[in-house]
Amino acid sequence: MRSITTLELQYAHRFYGFQGEAMYLHGHTGILTIEVEDDITPMVNMVYPCNEIKKVAWDILRNFDHALVLREDDPLLPAILDVYDRQNIRLGHPLNTMKGEAFCTPLAVAYPNCRLVVTKESMTVEGMIKIVYDLLKDKLPIAKLTFSSGVNMASQCYEIHKHLDKCPVCGVALGENGKCPKCGWKKK
Ligand SMILES: [Zn+2]
Ligand SMILES: [Zn+2]
Repeated sequence: MRSITTLELQYAHRFYGFQGEAMYLHGHTGILTIEVEDDITPMVNMVYPCNEIKKVAWDILRNFDHALVLREDDPLLPAILDVYDRQNIRLGHPLNTMKGEAFCTPLAVAYPNCRLVVTKESMTVEGMIKIVYDLLKDKLPIAKLTFSSGVNMASQCYEIHKHLDKCPVCGVALGENGKCPKCGWKKK
C-alpha cells in the first residue's frame, strides 16, 4: 500500500532560451505529491506516517521555497548575484532563517544563504521530478512523484526495490544503528 503526502513550494524561475512567456522571470506555487510504498507496519497500521514523509522531504526541499531557481547557463544568474552582493545578502541575512540543508547533486545545487537553486536543466515540472527523486530516493521508498505548477503537471512512477526496517511503535524508518530516530526504540 502507499502513504501519500503533498507539500507546497513557492518559487520563481524561468526557462532560459524557451520560446514562450516562460522565457520571462515569473513565480508559482508548486505542489509536490510524494507516494511512499511499503508494507503496513502492523501496530501502527500505516505504511509511513505522512507527517514524517513531509518532514524528511521538507528538510531538503525547502531550499526551493521562497527561492529563485535558475539554470546554470542563464545570464540572469551573475546579474542577480551581483545585486545580492551589492545589497550584502548573498551570503545570508539574519532574517533568512527558514533554510534547508544545502545540497549538491549533478542536477541541482542549493545555496540556502541566498535562497537560490542552480539547476543543470530548466526547472519544468518534469525537471523538478528528476531533481526531487534524486534528492529523496535514498531516504524514502518513493513509488510515485507528481509535481504541478500552474497549468503544468507531470508524474513518474518508480519500482520499489527494498523494504524499510521500521519502528513497530511509530512506523518511521530505523536509523543505521537500528534505533528509531523518533521514539528511541531499538532493534535487538
Ligand atoms: Zn513557470
Ligand atoms: Zn519509534
